Amino acid sequence: MTTTHAPAQTATRSADVPIAVVTGASRGIGAATARRLAADGYEVAVHYGTNEESAARVIAQIHKDGGRAFAFAADLSEPGIDRSFWKSYDAAAGTRRGAPVYALIHNAGVTIRGLIEDFPGEDFHRQQQINVTAPFLITQAGLPRLAEGGRIVNLSSGVTRIAMADVIGYAMTKGAIDAFTHTLAQHLGPRKITVNAVAPGIIDTDMNASWLRGNEQARGEILPQVALGYIGEPAEVADVVAFLVSADARYITGQTIDVTGGSRL
Ligand code: NAP
Repeated sequence: MTTTHAPAQTATRSADVPIAVVTGASRGIGAATARRLAADGYEVAVHYGTNEESAARVIAQIHKDGGRAFAFAADLSEPGIDRSFWKSYDAAAGTRRGAPVYALIHNAGVTIRGLIEDFPGEDFHRQQQINVTAPFLITQAGLPRLAEGGRIVNLSSGVTRIAMADVIGYAMTKGAIDAFTHTLAQHLGPRKITVNAVAPGIIDTDMNASWLRGNEQARGEILPQVALGYIGEPAEVADVVAFLVSADARYITGQTIDVTGGSRL
């Protein structure tokens, strides 16, 4: 097992730069997290599913800003994702192959909407596979790669606290993520690896575009329920993930941090 540390501002050699793996970093919260962690001095492994061009834009932006990053693809809905994910990662890692992974951010996810009365079983299983089974198996297969004293951060959701009938299946996946976070934190404590989650509220990403963007009626219904009175941006979640990854958060583990702008307090 390997020990590494949060980045020193002075790290100049590639081998000194800790690696952060961010799943679903081609868009939305994941892309913002990748950019923020690169700015904080990590070499970011930008995972994506199908949007190679978006992932390439994230990488180009990080490089333009003087950071380090590389991209790799893996479909989290596929069985055998534990093997395919790390195989794809290794193929893209170049000289960093075999280096310890300091931070693993399980961000990729899907929301399939529908009331329980008309929710297809196959959609239920697909959502579970991407949001729950894949993070579990990727972590399981990745445990020997994780640096002692490293970080795991999982993306949960405010809907584990706030009942929303049309996302019942999705809310269940995020409830599982909270249990995963809490339980794994205890298990990995002896390795000084912290495991935490962030639970965003409604954030302006593609996930909500179909019902939120340009829909003044929907915004009008949502905003009075948010204490801070506005819809969140991806960076507002990414900043909290970055804090949990940072050395400042070293004594926080097993927690889910609400990042909903005070929704339905
Ligand atoms: P998003 O904009 O829809 O982006 C989703 C990301 O996940 C993309 O990078 C996508 O990759 C990846 N992904 C989806 N399905 C995949 C699959 N089968 N295989 C591999 N990658 C896959 O999502 P977001 O809004 O940023 O959400 C990020 C996380 O925050 C999710 O876990 C979500 O549940 C959680 N969250 C979001 C909100 C919100 O309001 N936005 C609220 C609470 C929680 P490709 O595009 O490359 O396929």
